Amino acid sequence: MLNGIGNMAWLGAATLFILSLRGLSHPASARRGNLYGVTGMVIAVLATLLVTGGASLQIALIAALVGGALGAILARRVEMTQMPQLVAVLHSFVGLAATLIAFANFLSPQAAMSGVERAIHDTEIYVGAFIGTVTFSGSIVAFLKLQGTVSGKPLVLPARHLLNAVVLGACVVIGYRFVSAPDGSDALYALIVMCVLAAALGVHLVMAIGGADMPVVVSMLNSYSGWAAAATGFMLDNDLLVTTGALVGSSGAILSYIMCRAMNRSFVSVVLGGFGTVSATASATPEGEVVATTVDEVGSLLRDAQEVVIVPGYGMAVAQAQGTISEITRRLRALGIRVRFGIHPVAGRLPGHMNVLLAEAKVPYDIVLEMDEINEDFTSTDVVLVIGANDIVNPGAQEDAGSPIAGMPVLEVWKARTVVVSKRSMATGYAGVDNPLFYKDNTRMLFGDAKGSVDALLRQLEAA
Ligand code: NDP
Repeated sequence: MLNGIGNMAWLGAATLFILSLRGLSHPASARRGNLYGVTGMVIAVLATLLVTGGASLQIALIAALVGGALGAILARRVEMTQMPQLVAVLHSFVGLAATLIAFANFLSPQAAMSGVERAIHDTEIYVGAFIGTVTFSGSIVAFLKLQGTVSGKPLVLPARHLLNAVVLGACVVIGYRFVSAPDGSDALYALIVMCVLAAALGVHLVMAIGGADMPVVVSMLNSYSGWAAAATGFMLDNDLLVTTGALVGSSGAILSYIMCRAMNRSFVSVVLGGFGTVSATASATPEGEVVATTVDEVGSLLRDAQEVVIVPGYGMAVAQAQGTISEITRRLRALGIRVRFGIHPVAGRLPGHMNVLLAEAKVPYDIVLEMDEINEDFTSTDVVLVIGANDIVNPGAQEDAGSPIAGMPVLEVWKARTVVVSKRSMATGYAGVDNPLFYKDNTRMLFGDAKGSVDALLRQLEAA
């Protein structure tokens, strides 16, 4: 009876997860999607506790309380700009959990099995532990890279693809030994050796990926963590975990693919590492003069304009300038000026970062356009306001074959009549490359913290 209710609840939860993903695919329905996801998860956890029952129920409740409290504290403390690091750490937990469950399942099996049934179960344990360990070690390295503790430069070892293939091959051979081992201690030894190799593989795969490609790595690890959960689901014979894991795994893989396409990267190359490398040709030093501007000058440029495009980047998120930008937009629109936003797929530090901030600040969705939708319109734009963005508006990606971001599609803001860039200094962005945009004749640099600058700009617009 309890199992029947549990299965029904799991089916309901899985359906809510699918609806949630669908909702999250558009800003207008994202809130609803989130609600579906939360409801699905509450149902899933309650149903699992109900089915579990007994002594394990107490353990599960204590674990949920401790984990929930830690999660709540972390979520309150973490800044929006540190989200990718948080996401990387969370993926590492999923990986570690999958590996630990695999070991627990191996050391104290739930049911006695033999023959083909045992071989299949052992394979599930082995695959779960393998994906889990790769996800765990890879996510830890991704966290350290995003945090800046480990350099963002790719580690390019000689014959690295061969090295990866040898480690993978060794894991397959050890896997055969694991499944066919006559006694438990041989199999345990094989499992441990594989985990050490898988951990090294995870570290190497992510170390080989350059800073500019980290967005793809974060979503790829998301996908790996999903597959690790799905493998655990097979191991535990838990349909909900299989469905949820497969949803996360496939949506993460699709997102990685979309991001690779948006950045003009080959998916396979990013997965195998060594991308985002500084190429043999040195990146050119930009030529030209940097012209600083003032809030007054930007105010009059905006008032005289008919077409304005605002391009937000990571600096807008750091400065938390989105609220004032939204006010400025309202003000300019009231003056009859057409204002739109241009969003690069990897602006900020996580997919959809800018869309979330602008939605929070109540910027209407219909004036927030994707890169492909706005790129052709820059030639007919009077003023582009670049707020704390750098790599995503770097013309070097198109003009300089030696640039680490060469080939990455960018917002072609320099084609507008005037470009105003709000940032604090001439410092580089995430990819660590100079930006020739700042030296162009039609660019004006508005130096200072983005929030301070746009606050002053709003006051200026209101006073005029
Ligand atoms: P960038 O990191 O290229 O540039 C941000 C700029 O903001 C910096 O040059 C900095 O200059 C400026 N800035 C920082 N703080 C402030 C502030 N308080 N006020 C004003 N300006 C500020 O950001 P982009 O959004 O242009 O590009 C995103 C980069 O991040 C890409 O390289 C992308 O690959 C990478 N990335 C993206 C992820 C994603 O999923 N979206 C995940 C991980 C990485 P200054 O110091 O002079 O102020």
